[in-house]
Amino acid sequence: YDDRDGFIWMDGELKPWRDANVHILTHAMHYASSVFEGQRAYNGKIFKLTEHSERLRKSAEILGMELPWSVEEINAACEQVLKANDLTDAYVRPVAWRGSEQMGVAAQGAKPHMAIAAWKWGKYFDAEKAEKGIRLDIAPYRRPAPHTAPVHAKAAGLYMICTMSKHHAEARGYDDAMMLDWEGRVAEATGANAFFVREGKLYTPIADIFLNGITRRTVIDLAKKRDIEVIEKRIWPEELATFEEMFLTGSAAEVTFVSEAGPWNFTPGNMSRQLRQDYDDLVNGRLVNS
Ligand code: PMP
Repeated sequence: YDDRDGFIWMDGELKPWRDANVHILTHAMHYASSVFEGQRAYNGKIFKLTEHSERLRKSAEILGMELPWSVEEINAACEQVLKANDLTDAYVRPVAWRGSEQMGVAAQGAKPHMAIAAWKWGKYFDAEKAEKGIRLDIAPYRRPAPHTAPVHAKAAGLYMICTMSKHHAEARGYDDAMMLDWEGRVAEATGANAFFVREGKLYTPIADIFLNGITRRTVIDLAKKRDIEVIEKRIWPEELATFEEMFLTGSAAEVTFVSEAGPWNFTPGNMSRQLRQDYDDLVNGRLVNS
């Protein structure tokens, strides 16, 4: 990803893609003092940009970092990056981290930095596979308990177990992993939230110990607009046998059908298709924004 043309916004200026570097003693490299975002632009407009910029600032604040850029400045920088790279449909990746001004666990003197890159990123999951539904393994690691980590921050440190779980799943021939929470309930995939359908109702785990995704909230709104009952509840794996459909939601994953999660099977049906269509219409400006 580093050896290509283009521009990356870094601490207030656009830098040539290959020169957007940090020093090896960057605190974030050693101690994961880094937070990030991921959003998509459709037809030149970044979907829910302000929500993403707000979450970036919030994640940083949870880690004790105050970003010197306002939500409006972050929004403007994201848009500037799209333009500079001549992109209309793209994935946008803001990241903020503690720099190399201080080394050691304590790093109050390490300054907050921010960078924003954008690139063309097609479907997160292979489109052909996703049509039938992707296959999820059950992750060997569980989401951390809320008193063991800042679980609502989109913080790099929380993704170590996601990468390990996704690698583990892919090595076993699966597309992604479903992660359980610390008590063994269904939580989310490694980079997307989970939804289930049973007898015309939509179910999703309560987002109390993992990221309450912007796409998750959008899909809940879209379902409510269609008078679909949405039930947020604790879901134990055994209950998966009772659901007919499953899908994932995320800014990168959008709405992705699931055909298997461990020993449980699902078939994409009308509700999953309808909500995927509604989401597609909304992000492309064919539905009034909620
Ligand atoms: N959970 C995890 C672990 C994620 O990485 C993401 C993607 N940011 C999500 C859920 C979905 O969040 P969003 O819809 O805001 O992209």
